[in-house]
Amino acid sequence: MIWDELESALGEIDAAELKRRRRTLEAPCGPLAVVDGKPLISFCSNDYLGLANDPALIAAACAGAQAWGVGSGASHLVSGHQSPHQALEDKLAQFTGFARTLLLSTGYMANLAIVPALVGRGDAVFADKLNHASLIDAVQLSRANSERYAHGDLAMLERLLAKSCAKRKLIVTDAVFSMDGDLAPLPGLLELAEHYDAWLVVDDAHGFGVLGQGGRGSLAHFAIDANNPRLVYMGTLGKAAGASGAFVAGSQLVIEWLLQRARTYIFTTGSSPLIACALLSSVDLIAAGEARRAHLRELAGQLREGLTATRWQLLPSPTAIQPVIIGDNHEALQVAGALYERGLWVPAIRPPTVPKGTARLRVSLSAAHTSEHVAALVTVLQELA
Ligand SMILES: *Cc1c(COP(=O)(O)O)cnc(C)c1O
Repeated sequence: MIWDELESALGEIDAAELKRRRRTLEAPCGPLAVVDGKPLISFCSNDYLGLANDPALIAAACAGAQAWGVGSGASHLVSGHQSPHQALEDKLAQFTGFARTLLLSTGYMANLAIVPALVGRGDAVFADKLNHASLIDAVQLSRANSERYAHGDLAMLERLLAKSCAKRKLIVTDAVFSMDGDLAPLPGLLELAEHYDAWLVVDDAHGFGVLGQGGRGSLAHFAIDANNPRLVYMGTLGKAAGASGAFVAGSQLVIEWLLQRARTYIFTTGSSPLIACALLSSVDLIAAGEARRAHLRELAGQLREGLTATRWQLLPSPTAIQPVIIGDNHEALQVAGALYERGLWVPAIRPPTVPKGTARLRVSLSAAHTSEHVAALVTVLQELA
């Protein structure tokens, strides 16, 4: 039967110890999770500023629901584009310094919107090897040639650009890489984009709200001027911004083009207006969030210092993603399991998600963590090491 294949494939996944299991959380997103009645300190979420359960956002969402109801009822180009969506696009443009922004339902859909709208058959996309899955899928969907360069390797990228005779070229990169927490060399990438007349698409899922002056993101971190017509910026709104959704920011021209042509924008229902209302408040909290960001940096410093005497080290990451490199797959799983037993929830990441021999714990810090939460993690890690 046609489903036998699925059964045996699932069996293989299970046998290879690669079967994923969901855990159902019995508490709102925050540093304290409850799973099967067991309380846990969670280091898993991307709620970097602790906004997902913030009282101001909850109040804005409730007021938004009262004023606007729950659903948008249609796609943006039909009748699903409401005042809160427009106000949010304007606010995000003002905040990031770009001429205009476009709101999408998720970061995944935003990436699927951008790449196929800008390149197609006969064009070329130059992608960092460690880019997020959604960018990899976006390149495939575009049907453009995919050229991948070694992680952060500007020299290799330049060689690929120099020998390309593609009509249109697009460089695409995560700004903050999700498994290492390190930054893409954005100024160098922009220089190459200028020199070879390419677009530069920057996915700032983990930088928006966290990095740069006022949390404006990775471009601000590098003091890159948003007023550059070849720059297309994607920020997500389900991580540091604490809600859900994403936006693309760019010149008037490129945003108008996406609005006219991007299929994952056009053929989907507009996100809930109450989420847009919550996000209007979220942008204010991000802008005024220096204390949260300073606290986050202190927590990372505390974790780093606590592990110096152990055989496990953190990668040099300036972000909320702090990977502890264990090395061996089995050991990484064992350590994550032992932490879980002791009430500390940290995901173990293994190849092929990360290179062989670099299995790791991926500690995600949040401004909602206290130094006691991090101290608890450090104590148990020291014991286990
Ligand atoms: C999370 C993430 C996305 C997807 O964003 P969603 O809003 O969760 O769909 C895209 N790119 C990167 C680098 C991410 O980490």
